[in-house]
Amino acid sequence: MMTPSPVRPLPPHPPPPSSAEPAAADAKAARDIRTLALFSGVFCRARHAERVKERVSGRGVLAPYFAPLKTDLCPECARTLLHGAAKRVLCPYDPKPRCKHCPTPCYARGHRERVREIMRFSGKRLLARGRLDLLLKYFF
Ligand SMILES: [Zn+2]
Repeated sequence: MMTPSPVRPLPPHPPPPSSAEPAAADAKAARDIRTLALFSGVFCRARHAERVKERVSGRGVLAPYFAPLKTDLCPECARTLLHGAAKRVLCPYDPKPRCKHCPTPCYARGHRERVREIMRFSGKRLLARGRLDLLLKYFF
């Protein structure tokens, strides 16, 4: 006859908390958005030092991409970043072509030029030439 054990069995391990990271299919988009956010931050701090900045948070499909980021930008730079991020996530091509070679360009007028300025400015501050070229190909 078994004696009741005073030790209660351990509860099963709870499932791991669901990650906020996007699915693996979107890993490249997440990397591109992280890069654009980083460069936007460098640019905005230097060029728009006097402007009020707010933490950028994406809505809807962009939310999981921005949840792990801590990017504070002025409203103009935030609009540019969110527009670029939305277009990147919604890009129907896989692999994504360089935007200047895209058969169906989707950027708003002037957007590419603004992003190019941000990447050039911040790239000069941050990175060696070879790495900058590698990054530029994702955005232009
Ligand atoms: Zn700015």
